Amino acid sequence: MLDPSALAARLDTVRDRIARAAGRAGRDPSSIRLVAISKTFPAEYIRAAAAAGQRDFGENKVQEALAKMDALADLPLNWHLVGHLQSNKARKAGGRFDFVHSVDDAALLRRLDEGAREAGRRIQLLVQIDLAGEPTKHGAPQDELAGLLAAADGLSAARIVGLMLLPPAVDEPGQARPYFRTLLRLRDGLIRQGVAPSLLRELSMGMSHDYEVAIEEGATMVRVGSAIFGPRPQP
Ligand SMILES: *Cc1c(COP(=O)(O)O)cnc(C)c1O
Repeated sequence: MLDPSALAARLDTVRDRIARAAGRAGRDPSSIRLVAISKTFPAEYIRAAAAAGQRDFGENKVQEALAKMDALADLPLNWHLVGHLQSNKARKAGGRFDFVHSVDDAALLRRLDEGAREAGRRIQLLVQIDLAGEPTKHGAPQDELAGLLAAADGLSAARIVGLMLLPPAVDEPGQARPYFRTLLRLRDGLIRQGVAPSLLRELSMGMSHDYEVAIEEGATMVRVGSAIFGPRPQP
């Protein structure tokens, strides 16, 4: 059951913790974007979070997201796709989302760009990196990254703005720290090699159980679901 005041209180707690983690790292809290991951929750939950000042929402399935966008078209929200994108849905996604965090190959880049261009919109893309090399995971292997970033030159309505990481599940938040740190080092290394910093401005990393650690390690976007909306029903 939706309890708007409890939701607003959880949102406040997350904002406080973001500010404190930023403080520990000597960072400006306003440099960190909170993306509220609303997957599986009905549109009214998003409306309640929006009433409490939240603007950025993330979904992991295109169809589910489009239905919520339609239901909430009266609100000025930013929509993020954080889940794996099938290539047959990429063009449509390109025309509706503001950010896609899960780009992992050049064909997806092109289709998202086409979709955004046809819709007369702009879209910001993050390349999802597979650091752990787990075969079941999505994400571009590190050695394909330079090629993907080079494809940025050919885009018209889409821009690559950063990297996204979904590390393996760990028991303790601190165990995710080495992954976050590796992503930061990878980014810094690419910039040293001459990749334009504007392509690597954003680091999307950190979820409900480890967003504070991610912020200490340089996250500019944290993707927080259950800490805001409550536990999701298990599939
Ligand atoms: C579901 C999801 C999240 C949010 O997870 P929580 O643990 O509920 O915060 C973040 N990122 C991705 C890619 C997700 O699929």
